[in-house]
Amino acid sequence: MSVAPKILLVEDEAPIRIGLTERLTAEGYRVVAVDGVTAALAALAGHPDLIVLDRRLPDGEGLDVLRAARHGTHRPAVIVVSARGLAEDRVEGLEDGADDYVTKPFHLRELLARIKAVLQRVAPAGDADGRHLTSGALTLDLGARTARLGRKAVELTRLEF
Ligand code: CA
Repeated sequence: MSVAPKILLVEDEAPIRIGLTERLTAEGYRVVAVDGVTAALAALAGHPDLIVLDRRLPDGEGLDVLRAARHGTHRPAVIVVSARGLAEDRVEGLEDGADDYVTKPFHLRELLARIKAVLQRVAPAGDADGRHLTSGALTLDLGARTARLGRKAVELTRLEF
């Protein structure tokens, strides 16, 4: 790994934020930790590779950060973290373009594994066969002419592709 991936951690609960920052830094990631929506939106300018995003924040809804990230030219991967485990909340997060979803309380090792998996999936280098292009959560298969956003297939006409 030439440059360590940069992770934007958005979490208002200080013990979790501090503990995760220490662990992720120890794992070799560059970490920017913020405690709210406003600070997270400002931190998008630093072009994180991945956002670990708490849903319930004191100054707003974490999914607003996800939507903002999806509208920029730089598209970081996003793992949504939520205390809510209801199916509709999970679906809402994934429909908004989250790459993965973790429910609190989570095991640290599970989150680390998911971070690693998502970063590998969105790695900009492309696949060894050169047939895949990846940008943020979007992956294009040049051979099959199919597109995926996160894990979801995206319907495209030939022209749109
Ligand atoms: Ca919270």
